[in-house]
Amino acid sequence: MASSYRVAIVGAGPAGYFAAQALQNSQTDELKFAIDMIEKLPTPWGLVRSGVAPDHPKIKTVAKVFEKIATTEGFRLFANVELGKDITVDELEEMYDAVVIATGTSQGKKLGIPGEELPGSFSAADFVPWYNAHPDYVDIEIALDCETAVVIGAGNVAMDVARMLALEPKELDTTDTAEHALEQLHNSAIRKVHICGRRGPEHAAFTSPELRELPKLEHTDVHIDEHQINQAMERASAEGELPKDLKSNLDAMQAIAGAEKKGLERAMYFHFLATPLEIRGDGKVEEVLFGINKVEAGKVISTNETFTIKCGIVISAIGYEAVEIPGLPYEKGKIQNTDGKISGRSSYVVGWAKRGPSGVIGTNKSDSTEVMKLLVENLGTPKSPAELEKKLSERGSLIVTQNQWEKINAHEISKGEPLGKPRVKLVQRNEMLGIK
Ligand code: NAP
Repeated sequence: MASSYRVAIVGAGPAGYFAAQALQNSQTDELKFAIDMIEKLPTPWGLVRSGVAPDHPKIKTVAKVFEKIATTEGFRLFANVELGKDITVDELEEMYDAVVIATGTSQGKKLGIPGEELPGSFSAADFVPWYNAHPDYVDIEIALDCETAVVIGAGNVAMDVARMLALEPKELDTTDTAEHALEQLHNSAIRKVHICGRRGPEHAAFTSPELRELPKLEHTDVHIDEHQINQAMERASAEGELPKDLKSNLDAMQAIAGAEKKGLERAMYFHFLATPLEIRGDGKVEEVLFGINKVEAGKVISTNETFTIKCGIVISAIGYEAVEIPGLPYEKGKIQNTDGKISGRSSYVVGWAKRGPSGVIGTNKSDSTEVMKLLVENLGTPKSPAELEKKLSERGSLIVTQNQWEKINAHEISKGEPLGKPRVKLVQRNEMLGIK
């Protein structure tokens, strides 16, 4: 007879779905899995819904894979259920043969500089879910009434944020940008966006496909100092043959520097070797003070020189940390684990909650697969059937099942159709819960 195990996966983002897929793929005649996926929001897909930039619809097509996983026999969705509030890790461990935590890293790291709390200073961890219709971020007041924005960080999130602010908003009309954000962007006074990295171009965390898109922007000129890129190229080449990815990045930056500038009203400016020291302003953001760095013997050091950029909004995109869930051990913004196993528990962790906020969506597939291999190896005797549904209904939880989510999904898509958009996202929980 087949051994049938019950696994709870908490977090319906890429890492959670790829963990479910790995378990589904490891099934044999002798080994079966029933998977319950628990998600805090009434909607699944995690960063594919609330992180990926709306002007990157191709990246979101991975949701089709998630839906295939979700409609495979033995899979159930329990959305609108929050771990730590509606159900605890201990309770899940009692009910399931194994628990997989895939809750990501949703809060932005702090710069830790004076002025960071001034009105007009935001984290990308708030700004990105705001424009992506995450219900917890809808009410954030983001004024786009100034001419200049500063984005801090030289990674792909900084790039997404800068592009969203610098694009001609008409280009977003056929995307799934939250309606409140689209309206604000249409009324935005921002015309100049400065994107600032503290190290050199050779150290930037941008990836080249994202850089290569920039010269193609029709309504935004993108400026990078060619001399700075050439110097970076020389420094990096002096250390030996350039790794492929680095060469591709620096080539892409050179292409941006060399691209014809059309004198457009909208512009993006890249600054490197610029450490933010202070955000200044009288009751709101007015300028950012940067320390100028240089690279010496491969090290980034301060020159003690500074410069300022006058601006009305600052968005820091410098990485993320996990929000702590009671009962789980944390260290350096992620869950303590050994190869994905949480010590002393029957729980595992995958994705950004496991390894920190790095890698693209696909990175989670191999990562989750490895952790699920370990989970399968460690399985003991199957437990008796779990009663999650009963426990949650006793507590008055309003569970969004896969079937209900499919109705929400269909509703959003049908609202988008006449507008030429992939969907119009619902933003209020009660609206989502009201779709029957
Ligand atoms: P990231 O790639 O780690 O970049 C973070 C940036 O913040 C780095 O440039 C880092 O500089 C800088 N930084 C950190 N602390 C700082 C400080 N105190 N002051 C100034 N700068 C600071 O992180 P991310 O941009 O949040 O992206 C997370 C992951 O998601 C990445 O793997 C990214 O590629 C991925 N992602 C992919 C896409 C896409 O495929 N289109 C889109 C978005 C995100 P140092 O290097 O000097 O530390």
